Amino acid sequence: MLALFGFVLGAVIGSFLNVVIYRLPKGESVVHPPSRCPACGHRLGAVDMVPVLSWIVFRGRCRYCGAPVSARYPLVEGLTGVLFALAGWLHPQPDVEIVLIWAFTALLIALSFIDIDHYILPDSLNFSGLALGLLGSALWGFPVDWQAAWQGAFAAAGLLALIGGFANLALRRGANGTPGFPVGLEHVYLAAAVAAWAGWGWGLAAAAVLVVANLLLGRALPLHDALTLGAALLGVMAASYGSLPLNAIESVWNLLLASGAVALAGGLYWALLPGDNEGEEDEDDPVAMGFGDVKLAGMLGAWLGFGPFVVALAVAVFAGAILGLLLRRRKLPFGPYLAIGGWVALWWGADLMQRYLAYLGLS
Ligand SMILES: [Zn+2]
Repeated sequence: MLALFGFVLGAVIGSFLNVVIYRLPKGESVVHPPSRCPACGHRLGAVDMVPVLSWIVFRGRCRYCGAPVSARYPLVEGLTGVLFALAGWLHPQPDVEIVLIWAFTALLIALSFIDIDHYILPDSLNFSGLALGLLGSALWGFPVDWQAAWQGAFAAAGLLALIGGFANLALRRGANGTPGFPVGLEHVYLAAAVAAWAGWGWGLAAAAVLVVANLLLGRALPLHDALTLGAALLGVMAASYGSLPLNAIESVWNLLLASGAVALAGGLYWALLPGDNEGEEDEDDPVAMGFGDVKLAGMLGAWLGFGPFVVALAVAVFAGAILGLLLRRRKLPFGPYLAIGGWVALWWGADLMQRYLAYLGLS
């Protein structure tokens, strides 16, 4: 019953997501003006906007001018309908939880298709998804409790920021990235380095001091990425030899929390800064992973908690490898794979994590 309702609701929401996917990256309003045929400009009536069905009935053409209508529109509507239905089948209680799951699903679909079209993950969607995940955990303890949510957001963003940091270092053969003013990736890596040795509070403090120093001097102080990332690795090694108050796992956990907190705070600063284009990436930068992926990881971490997020990341890498081989496209965005992984992990992530830990004899 809830599955059937889910399909109808999903198809209608999917119709709205088409508008979001088309207009949001252009900075246009998603509610105004009403939809028009992009070919002839004729305003679309209610009959033209019945999800999936109108595309089939009018045989994929505009009713007014006969121009072909992309199969993308019914595809997004159908996909949203199917996933909403599946969610209603897996979670058959009509409560606030299913509403949160549907919202999570809709956000992931919009993010995925915008990433496929434009290679960006808009801050507005990433950060509203992050906020909604934190809100759900704070108010209803769903999908995870509050502590798992905020720690998951920080640690997941930190993990992706550091994978990106090491990958960039390798791609640039150790050369430094462009420092940001007043806050950039060097602050993320500095937080990781200090946190690995001294705990995540000190990592945050160090990053804050460097931001203040930048502001006082009016320029970005150089801080070599190889130095900070290397110091982070050394910290984890020192911890594993028992030379620090932290053990190795605590050292890694602290560096993830600190770097993710700085990455998300810095990302929010850049998102709120007026004049900066939504989610714009520097084309010349050999980024192995865009910073939009770091923010999407933060959102997923808030919804899933860290353990299931790692499952989501594993599913994403696996799906990316398979589809990358099948599609043979040179440049593939990572966002849709993270979204697939996140949706899978929402249902089965905690269970898979438990089984894997049990298999390793750790639980
Ligand atoms: Zn037309």
